[in-house]
Amino acid sequence: MSLALLRWGVFLLLCLFAPHALAGDAKPRRTAARASKLVRLKNGQMLHRDAAAAYQRMKAEARTKNIYLWVRSGYRSHAKQRRLYERYRKGKGPQAAKPGRSNHQRGLAVDLVIGGVKTPTYEWLVSNACRFGFKRTVRSEPWHWEYRPRSTREPEPGRDCVGRPLKRPRRETSAVASTEKS
Ligand SMILES: [Zn+2]
Repeated sequence: MSLALLRWGVFLLLCLFAPHALAGDAKPRRTAARASKLVRLKNGQMLHRDAAAAYQRMKAEARTKNIYLWVRSGYRSHAKQRRLYERYRKGKGPQAAKPGRSNHQRGLAVDLVIGGVKTPTYEWLVSNACRFGFKRTVRSEPWHWEYRPRSTREPEPGRDCVGRPLKRPRRETSAVASTEKS
């Protein structure tokens, strides 16, 4: 009987103190981490370090195809998001999410210079960005891409990000072209 009581006592003590110990440890660390996880790109824009690393890899690969990616807007502070939202509400600026609702505030969203939805840059992003964990999330904003590696699926082998078959190697393509000409 007394052993059972003792067990209960230990169990209750663990229940009481374990969550406090965990919370007390985790909370300040999380707050401090948010600021330190931002890194600055060469053009001055900031991103979460994971998003920045993926973006740099994507930018380097795009460049091999003569596509030059440029971040017009990355991380935004709460104050900046509020200013943008207020301008939008007054009809003086482009669409902006409510402060606290934008992934720009977490450094995980990028507004890229795409020059429209019929440009090689946009086309390249549609075909390739998923391989780097980036996806479009706002229907009306083709320039807005978010780093969401967990919910962004890699393409099937031999396919691009929207399921189109990858272009055949150049040798085959030129063979087809020469057949068509003759
Ligand atoms: Zn955006």
